[in-house]
Amino acid sequence: MKNYNITLLRGDGIGPEIVNEAVKVLDVTAEKYGFKVNYTDALLGGCAIDETGVPLPQETIDKCKASDSVLLGAVGGPKWDTLPGKNRPEAGLLGIRGALGLFANLRPAVIFEPLKDASPLRADIVGGALDIMIVRELTGGIYFGERGTLVENGMEAAYDTEKYSVAEIERIGRVAFDMAMKRNKKLTSVDKANVLDSSRLWRKTMIRLSEEYPEVELNHLYVDNCAMQLVRDPKQFDVIVTSNIFGDILSDEASQISGSIGMLASASLNSTKLGLYEPIHGSAPDIAGKGIANPLATILSVAMMLRYSLDEPAAADAIERAVSEVLDTTRTPDIYTEGTRKVSTSEMGDAVCALIR
Ligand code: NAD
Repeated sequence: MKNYNITLLRGDGIGPEIVNEAVKVLDVTAEKYGFKVNYTDALLGGCAIDETGVPLPQETIDKCKASDSVLLGAVGGPKWDTLPGKNRPEAGLLGIRGALGLFANLRPAVIFEPLKDASPLRADIVGGALDIMIVRELTGGIYFGERGTLVENGMEAAYDTEKYSVAEIERIGRVAFDMAMKRNKKLTSVDKANVLDSSRLWRKTMIRLSEEYPEVELNHLYVDNCAMQLVRDPKQFDVIVTSNIFGDILSDEASQISGSIGMLASASLNSTKLGLYEPIHGSAPDIAGKGIANPLATILSVAMMLRYSLDEPAAADAIERAVSEVLDTTRTPDIYTEGTRKVSTSEMGDAVCALIR
């Protein structure tokens, strides 16, 4: 029987509550699909600060590196908001991404049919199921480029640098083309090649890479146009690949189209199959401890883990099917509508488990 080692970073706020449900679902899925999962807990964020004084202890990095995959709840909260930047919980998040070399961020923007009324866009625009995958470069570009502040002509000035090498572009490009091959073979590369040299290199490299993937239809959009198209006609997109800063903004825009922050998963991958899987939402301190958080984004993160790190696509499909089905009848308060059953965090986990069994 296959055996997988997963590190759990439960984190802060609602993190422990939602990770509990994801573990429940993973255990039931493992039993049904014939594999075993071993869990190791590690500290990240505010809980790590409280116990060890730092948001990312070395022990956490070591445990994550030694595992097949990592599941993260969420970190942060008002208790740690007054700490200086590098000692804050969020610094642990950036730190673990860097330590694991996670250069590819996958953010699906999905609308499940039963939740289509939650979208701020008209039903005829999002109608049917919407399913976009944004592939964002995560360790290069302007967030990591040379920067500085200086005094110029007696006035304060500051600069940041956007820089990409061909190797960095090829690496993220391959993730996106491979993803497109597994989906509808349609890839949109987003840049600002009318203005930026780094974007012109990005586009040239994507075009060259496309020769290795003759089945994938590649098109290019300027980032400003892409931002418009996402709200004008989001169904035109399948896989989008873009740089760190453009992906940061576009993936948040795309997530809003779904209208339900408690439903969206994400994955960050490195060049081995090790990945960090997490919901896109934060630690929701306003509802922590009340047992009402929506665990579905974390449960869907487990489905992504099974698909992209553990090579268990049938088990991933089963979780996604169960989540889609559960929404017909069962809702946590954040997505509740009349005529459905309003449930707690753990009741939602149980309902998904029952459908998988
Ligand atoms: P948030 O995502 O935590 O919450 C925004 C709103 O959405 C809140 O009203 C919250 O109750 C609701 N919400 C979020 N997740 C939900 C869920 N699963 N079920 C039901 N409702 C949910 O964002 P915020 O309030 O801006 O940030 C709170 C803390 O989380 C901050 O400390 C922030 O730095 C941190 N944060 C962490 C991550 C992460 O760990 N990856 C990401 C974003 C924010």
